[in-house]
Amino acid sequence: MRPLTYSRATDIDHALVLAAATPRSAFLAGGTTEVDLIRAGISPSEHLVDINDLPLAGVEDRADGGLHIGALARMSDVARTPGVVERYPAVSRALLLSASEQLRNMASIGGNLRQRTRCPYLRDGVSPCNKRDPGSGCAALDGFNRGHAILGTSPQCIATHPSDVAVVLVAFDAVVRTLGPAGPRSLPIDDFFLLPGATPEVEHPIAHDELITGVDVPGNPIARRSVYLKVRDRESYEFALVSVAAALAVHDGEVADVRLALGGVGTKPWRAHRAEAALVGRPADEASFRRAAAVELEGAVVGEHNAFKVELAQRAVVRALVASRDGRQS
Ligand SMILES: Cc1cc2nc3c(=O)[nH]c(=O)nc-3n(C[C@H](O)[C@H](O)[C@H](O)COP(=O)(O)OP(=O)(O)OC[C@H]3O[C@@H](n4cnc5c(N)ncnc54)[C@H](O)[C@@H]3O)c2cc1C
Repeated sequence: MRPLTYSRATDIDHALVLAAATPRSAFLAGGTTEVDLIRAGISPSEHLVDINDLPLAGVEDRADGGLHIGALARMSDVARTPGVVERYPAVSRALLLSASEQLRNMASIGGNLRQRTRCPYLRDGVSPCNKRDPGSGCAALDGFNRGHAILGTSPQCIATHPSDVAVVLVAFDAVVRTLGPAGPRSLPIDDFFLLPGATPEVEHPIAHDELITGVDVPGNPIARRSVYLKVRDRESYEFALVSVAAALAVHDGEVADVRLALGGVGTKPWRAHRAEAALVGRPADEASFRRAAAVELEGAVVGEHNAFKVELAQRAVVRALVASRDGRQS
């Protein structure tokens, strides 16, 4: 049995001191991921710093029409906050399509962003996995890789990032606020998730004792038309095979502005920059949507079992863009 110690932080400074004092410490929020990983012997944590008493659970309106979501805001609370439902329906939708109501009542936004991949080869604790045991290899490359990534992969790792809400936050250029030994930092959320490259074990550019304090989502009028579409093997309590966050502004029949990001297909929540560029100024019709989706998926690298995701992702992009254009949720 591996010893595990626990302390409960009374304020933010206390949390930082407690985390810095033990190299193998981790913050504990809802515990819905961290406790599972400790039990399975996957998390190397030896000390848990419980942060649930910190004043980081609020969701506030920003002067620019955007939102500040505290790191300890629970997924179910964020999903039902009126400002989120009105101005960022895709954020609300992505949260409500995640996990189960019980989990959403416990799980925090900070923990959601730092959740680890559901790749079974990481979680079985014995297969070669460069995330768990750097240098051991990647069993998914030649294994059962039906759920794995097709974008942003490397020869060292093809695991998908599982978060739903992160896909929407990436589409809307959210900023992750942290506080750590180097003081406060603001990280564009796209940079918060690292591609696996040669070091898949390094998932975020933050220190183990750096606390996420919240996420800022800038104001953006087209977010009111935002859509989150999640395609999965069963209709509830399941991770995405493919998901799409989309928002579209149309003037005179042409795409004036667009936000597009994909989940379930990337090693990180995948901002579809190439598709966005291919859409602006084009007719807001299904032919343009289909072409743009194909441009984004051109770089896909498929394995033996996940080639179907290329077509599925393209169809999902078209469906989500049509829904946003027509002012409805998928
Ligand atoms: C059965 C099941 C199904 C799920 N389905 C989905 C799904 O469909 N979609 C989806 O998006 N998610 C899903 N999840 C994941 C779930 O959303 C996450 O487990 C949850 O959001 C993690 O939040 P938490 O507060 O419980 O984090 P914890 O478990 O407490 O922490 C997770 C990690 O984040 C770190 N951490 C937490 N807070 C902070 C902070 N403020 N600063 C720095 N680090 C921090 C912890 O140290 C730990 O490493 C599912 C989970 C389970 C168990």
